[in-house]
Amino acid sequence: MIYIKEGIPIIGVNALHHPNRQRFTIAHELGHYMLHRDMLSNEVHVDKQFKILMRNSKSSAGTDAMEVDANKFAAELLLPEFLIADVLAHSTFDIDDPAPLDELAKKFKVSKQMVEYRIRG
Ligand SMILES: [Zn+2]
Repeated sequence: MIYIKEGIPIIGVNALHHPNRQRFTIAHELGHYMLHRDMLSNEVHVDKQFKILMRNSKSSAGTDAMEVDANKFAAELLLPEFLIADVLAHSTFDIDDPAPLDELAKKFKVSKQMVEYRIRG
């Protein structure tokens, strides 16, 4: 969740979640802060469950658009495009082979789904 009180952002994560999930949550909430802070002022924005929401399937719904934006922000922060480009340029990477996906997920401390999403673009 994120809460902005008198201009000061407070991001809360569930300490029981896997560290990778906590990293994603913080990156996602930071995305809300950077992109939507005007809309968040003085209200608590709680993200209970992240959908795999990277593309905007319901663009008419404003909140979904915000979640898509926050997820994209998180993806770029945790797994920057220039690093993905570097990995792809210096390896023969087979998207259907899970081993390198695992390796990259460990290296960047993100989920395999995130690596897959970033590589597939
Ligand atoms: Zn959110």
